[in-house]
Amino acid sequence: MKPIYIVRLDDACPTFCRSKWLKLEKILKQFDVVPIIAVVPSNLDPLLRQDKHWPRFWNWIKERQDIDGWIIAVHGYNHVAENANVGILGINKKSEFSGIEKSEKIKKISKAIKIFQRHGLNTDFFVAPYHSFDFQTLKVLRSLDFKFVSDGPGSSTFSLFGLNFVPQQLWKHKTYSSGVWTICLHPNAMLETEINKLEDILRDNSQFFLKSKTQIENLNFEKKYLKLLCSFIAMRLKRNFIKVTAYLRDYSKFQ
Ligand SMILES: [Zn+2]
Repeated sequence: MKPIYIVRLDDACPTFCRSKWLKLEKILKQFDVVPIIAVVPSNLDPLLRQDKHWPRFWNWIKERQDIDGWIIAVHGYNHVAENANVGILGINKKSEFSGIEKSEKIKKISKAIKIFQRHGLNTDFFVAPYHSFDFQTLKVLRSLDFKFVSDGPGSSTFSLFGLNFVPQQLWKHKTYSSGVWTICLHPNAMLETEINKLEDILRDNSQFFLKSKTQIENLNFEKKYLKLLCSFIAMRLKRNFIKVTAYLRDYSKFQ
């Protein structure tokens, strides 16, 4: 199977950096690429206040879903880290969901869904802020009718706790001959040159990028627990290995 690349754009909210997001919209449409947009329903993260509040924001998001078929995902509730819990993936030492009370998880995610519904948006896709979620978060998501989560290791889709996982492993494009690869980008922080680079990549490779949500729905979401467990362990080891080599490099500088 040829590779499928998915562009995931994180941290959309009414105070995002509109010029960058609208430039990316133009580029994605030019190449008929359907991204996953991680929308913060009720942002309280000062880092995501990049621009004046845009009154058309929610209409714009709804248009992207209804007109262009973009995948609009719930990206937590307010994007504020509650603690330093790394969650299952161990990517960031901060979390909005890992390690908090189950009732709080339910409250936050229910409020997020209500905000989406108030703006006429229905979605079954979730993206955890800071890539941090625990097993209980997954159970709560399932109980609130989410079907898809964008995150996790491996090169193929998998299922866990009744949720379909679309793995997210890249922060920039790499060439592979097969597999499902999600490239996570943060448009608010992207440089002009990085946006142009994405345009170049799409110009040369757009045939391998996601064209519709149906394409994801038609993938095989097998339960491969053993394989999955190995991927999680390998990911943790790899991260620690990188940390250890970084320490050694730093240490050697002072010798
Ligand atoms: Zn985020």
